[in-house]
Amino acid sequence: MVAASDGMTPAVLLDQPLTKVLAAGTARALAALGPVTVGDLLRFYPRRYVDPGKLTALADLKEGEKVIVVGKVARASVRRTATGKGLFEVVLRDDAGDTMKMAFFGKSPARLGYHERILRPGCKAWFSGTVGLYRGELQLVHPTFSQMGEAGIDERDTWPKPAYPANASIDSDQIAKAVATVLRPLHDGEIDDPLPETVRAIHGLMPLVDALHKVHEPHCDADWLAARRRLRFEEAFVLQTEMLRRRAAAADHLATARPVRTGGLLDAFDAVLPFTLTDGQRQVGAELADELAGTSPMQRLLQGEVGSGKTVVALRAMLQVVDAGGQAALLAPTEVLAAQHLGTLRALLGDLACAGQLGAADHATTVTLLTGSQSAAVRRQALADAASGAAGIVIGTHALLGDTVQFADLGLVVVDEQHRFGVEQRDALRSKATTVPHTLVMTATPIPRTVAMTIFGDLEISTLREVPAGRAQVTTHSVPAGLDSWMARTWQRVGDAARAGERAYVVAPRIDADDDPGLTADDAGRPPLASVVDVAEQLAAEPALAGVDIGVLHGRMPADAKERAFADFASGRVPVLVATTVIEVGVDVPEATVMVVLDADRFGISQLHQLRGRIGRGARPGLCLLVSSVFDPAPPAREGTPTAGDPPAVTRLRALERTTDGFELAELDLEQRREGDVLGAAQSGTASSLRLLQVTRDEDVIVTARREAELVITSDPTLKSHPALAHAIATRLTAQEDEFLDRT
Ligand code: ADP
Ligand code: MG
Repeated sequence: MVAASDGMTPAVLLDQPLTKVLAAGTARALAALGPVTVGDLLRFYPRRYVDPGKLTALADLKEGEKVIVVGKVARASVRRTATGKGLFEVVLRDDAGDTMKMAFFGKSPARLGYHERILRPGCKAWFSGTVGLYRGELQLVHPTFSQMGEAGIDERDTWPKPAYPANASIDSDQIAKAVATVLRPLHDGEIDDPLPETVRAIHGLMPLVDALHKVHEPHCDADWLAARRRLRFEEAFVLQTEMLRRRAAAADHLATARPVRTGGLLDAFDAVLPFTLTDGQRQVGAELADELAGTSPMQRLLQGEVGSGKTVVALRAMLQVVDAGGQAALLAPTEVLAAQHLGTLRALLGDLACAGQLGAADHATTVTLLTGSQSAAVRRQALADAASGAAGIVIGTHALLGDTVQFADLGLVVVDEQHRFGVEQRDALRSKATTVPHTLVMTATPIPRTVAMTIFGDLEISTLREVPAGRAQVTTHSVPAGLDSWMARTWQRVGDAARAGERAYVVAPRIDADDDPGLTADDAGRPPLASVVDVAEQLAAEPALAGVDIGVLHGRMPADAKERAFADFASGRVPVLVATTVIEVGVDVPEATVMVVLDADRFGISQLHQLRGRIGRGARPGLCLLVSSVFDPAPPAREGTPTAGDPPAVTRLRALERTTDGFELAELDLEQRREGDVLGAAQSGTASSLRLLQVTRDEDVIVTARREAELVITSDPTLKSHPALAHAIATRLTAQEDEFLDRT
C-alpha cells in the first residue's frame, strides 16, 4: 500500500514501481500505456470527463438535457422488433409517481439478457443519459444504469466521470480504480509540491495533492477545471525552470574571450565579400562579436527567414574566433549538408581557406570536414588537423560528437538547423572544450515565440527578418495531380529550365514503393504516393524532358553516391534532381529556379517553405509548383452533402501560394500542427513532459510561468532549496536527468 507516513521521502513514494502496489496484470497493462511508477500514474490524467447529468425528477424532464433519474423499475420486457433486433424496454417510476421509458436495443433479444437480469421489476435503479423524444414521449435510449441499495443513489455516481486513454487490455474504469488505489491514501502535503507556495498564492493555484484528487476524482466540473489550470501551470513552470537553470549553469562557467582582431582573417574576409551585408546581418553580427569578446559563454539562437543569409553571419563569428587563436566547429544534421557547408565556406573564403598551400593568403586557415562515412585515411587527417589546431574550422555531422574527436582550442560551436539535434548533443560537443565554448544555434525557419521559449528557452534569440535586396521573386502555384494537361505543363517548365542552364528539383515523399508512406485512415482512396525511384523512371520517358539528364538523391544512397549526385546537379551536368526531403535544409545552388513538390499535401508548412527556399537564391526568378491530389476536381457532390471548410492541407498549400513570409507561415503552422509535432522528436523529453500544456494555445501561461521561474533560479540557481522542483525536472525531462542529479 502507498503511505507516506512510513517515513518515506516523497521521491521514494513517487518513484515506487506500480508492480509493488497494484496487481501484476494491472501494472503490466498500465505500463503499456506509459505509467510505470506511482508518480507516473498520478500524472496520467483523464483525457476528458463524462457528465452524468443532473439528478432530475421525472416531472421536470426536458428534451435534450443530460440527466440522472432515480426510481423503481415498474415494468420491464424484451421483444423482437420488426427488423429482428432485440428491444428491452423499462418503465421507471419515481417517488412522486411519475413514469418514464428507457429503451435498449440489441442485435437479438438474447443479447439483452444482462439488462433483464439487472433491471427486474421492483428493483431500485438510477439511469444517466440525454433525454430524447420518441412518438411524443420523453425517453432515454441506452442510458448508463445501475441498481441501487436502499441507501439511494451513491453520490459518486453524480460526479463527472473521468475518461482515461485506455486500450484493449485495460479500460477507463479499471484505470480509474488503479489511480484510486494510489491516490486515496494521499493527504495534503504528503508529496512535496514543485510549485512554491508563494507562486501558488499569487496565481490562485491549489496545492499538488488537492489538484491530483480533483483531476482524477472531481465532484463537479469546476474541480477538474481548476485542477487542470494548476497542473498546466506546473508543467510550464517546471520546464521554464529547467531552461533557465541550464542557462544559469552555462553562464556560470568561464569562456575564453575572443575579441575582434583588427587586420585579421575577418577583416580580410569582409574586404573580399562580394556583397554588402544586410542591416540585419550587420546588427546580429555586432551582437555576436560583442558576446564572443566576453568571458561569459554566448548561448544564442539565430533564427531567420529562409535565404536571409545566416551562413555568412555564422562564418563571420567563426572567423573572429579563429583570429583570436581558437577553433570553430560547425555541426550539420546530414552529410549532404555538411559537405555543402564545406563547399560554401571554402567558396566564400577562397584563398583565405588555403593555409599551408602555395600562394595562400597571410591569415589563411583550414576548413576541414569530418563525417562518419569518410575513409580511414581522410578521417585520420581530419582528426589530426582538429587536434593540432591546424584546422580553424571543422565541419561535421554527428561524427563530430564521437569520443575520438579532440580540438586544440574549441572556442565556438555553431549548430545548424538545430531542430534535428537534441540538447544532449549540443552538450556533448561543448564538453570537448577545456573552457566552455561559445554556442550559436541556427534554426532553418522562423519559429513562433512560444515554441522558441519552450524548446530554446535556455538561449537568447537573434532574428534575421529581411532577405538580401535584389533577390529574385519566387512564385508558387498549386497543381492538381489528376489533371494531365497541368502535369504535362509542369514537366515542360522543368525541361525549359534545364535547357536554359538552370536547375530543377523534383521532390517526392518517399524513396521507392517499399518505403512506408505512413498513411492514415484519412488517406483512404488516395492514389499511391510518388516515390523518387518511380518518378525518376517516369521522367526519363517524359517527352518534355527528352535529352535532359535526371539524377536522384535520397537518404539510402551511399555517402559517395550522394555527394556525386549532388555535385553533378550543382555543376549543371545533371540539371534535374529527383530527391526526398534530404534537400530540405540549407542546400544552396544559386542556379536552381524550379521546385516541383509531388504530393505536397504530405508535407508541413515549414517543410514546404524550406523546400521553396532552395530556389530563387540567385538572380533568376523561381517557380515553385505544389502538386497534390487535394486539388483534383471532385466528383459532383451528392445532393444534400454538407460542404465543410477547406481541409487543412488545402489551407496550408493556399497559404504558401499567398505569402513567402516565413513568420506568418510559422504561426499558421503552429495553429495547424499537433503538439508533439511542434516540439519535435529530438526534444522528446520536453514533449512528453507536457500533458496539459499546449504550446499552441497557452502562451500566457508559459510567459507567466517563465517569470516565476526566473525569480526561483535567480535566488536558488542549483535548486538546492527546491527539492520537489528538482525532482520533477529530473524525472520528467529525462534527457538531462543524470547530469542534473550529479550537480544537485
Ligand atoms: P539561410 O539563412 O537560408 O541559411 P544562406 O546563408 O544560405 O541563407 O544565404 C542564402 C544566399 O544568399 C547564399 O547564396 C548567400 O551567399 C547569399 N547572401 C547572404 N548574404 C547576402 C547579402 N547580404 N547580399 C546578397 N547575398 C547574400
Ligand atoms: Mg542555411
